[in-house]
Amino acid sequence: MIVFDLIGQTPLVLLESFSDERVQIYAKLEQFNPGGSVKDRLGKYLIEKAIKDGRLKKGGTIVEASAGNTGTGIGLAIAANRYKVKCVIFAPKGFAEEKNFSMKALGADVRRTQKSEGMIGAQGEAKTYAKKYNALYMNQFGSEDNPNAYTHTLAQSLTEKLNHIDYFVAGVGSGGTFTGVAQHLKDYQVKNYIVEPEGSVLNGGPSHAHDTEGIGSEKWPSFLNKKLVDGIFTMKDQDAFNNVKLLANKEGFLVGSSSGAALQGALELKKQVQQGVIVTIFPDGSDRYMSKQIFNYKESNDYE
Ligand code: PMP
Repeated sequence: MIVFDLIGQTPLVLLESFSDERVQIYAKLEQFNPGGSVKDRLGKYLIEKAIKDGRLKKGGTIVEASAGNTGTGIGLAIAANRYKVKCVIFAPKGFAEEKNFSMKALGADVRRTQKSEGMIGAQGEAKTYAKKYNALYMNQFGSEDNPNAYTHTLAQSLTEKLNHIDYFVAGVGSGGTFTGVAQHLKDYQVKNYIVEPEGSVLNGGPSHAHDTEGIGSEKWPSFLNKKLVDGIFTMKDQDAFNNVKLLANKEGFLVGSSSGAALQGALELKKQVQQGVIVTIFPDGSDRYMSKQIFNYKESNDYE
């Protein structure tokens, strides 16, 4: 086996301290991917698909905007390394620096964009770069390849491991993970729920910055079919960070804030349902957010 083959080999665990006879909560621990997040799956899929379709050749260049989840940048950098293509990532300032260091170490060319311009600004710069230098824009926010990356790997692994699933809940950034998994689980009569932080607009609330990294949308993702969504939970950043601490204390497991948010969605669901099996995705670990005081969270109100 080579390191690249580890992508997708992640465990599914019962969250014992949050489950009882009535409701069981399972989490897929995506930090066990070699790049440390669920986005390794995306990087591998996007680059392999582009090579297969003839859009990308050895020595070519890919470019992407990646922020709350510079996980995407890390995933792309790993796959670009493997297939000998150049990887350029536009990342807004203001997110955890650890991810930028990792992308650079993996060989990516990281360009910082204005925090105030958000992801839309970073996408604009990535598109301009693609035109100017004849690079392939990966377009995770607009391409159906994004959800497809999860349907055949992540989603299938859930139905293979568990005999029965009643509910699925996940955070939405680009919406790829949720859409790809929900698409598959609908065939198994699973009800699918989104969890988002306040400041994300999916539930109709106003758009503003938030502290839960990796999830939250400035607009409804183009490939996310509303029919796949059975409900949306909007939660406070504080709840996500409290859950990160609870997971460390009770389960002995260190996750990022979007996993804390995912747990919050599962706990809201648990309150509402009589019984059943809830599955969620924990996208990454705590280690890449230490510089942002993940275990000592205080609301920043830095909504610039
Ligand atoms: N958690 C983290 C840490 C992420 O970086 C992302 C991606 N932005 C997500 C969750 C959400 O994934 P998706 O983009 O597939 O919605």
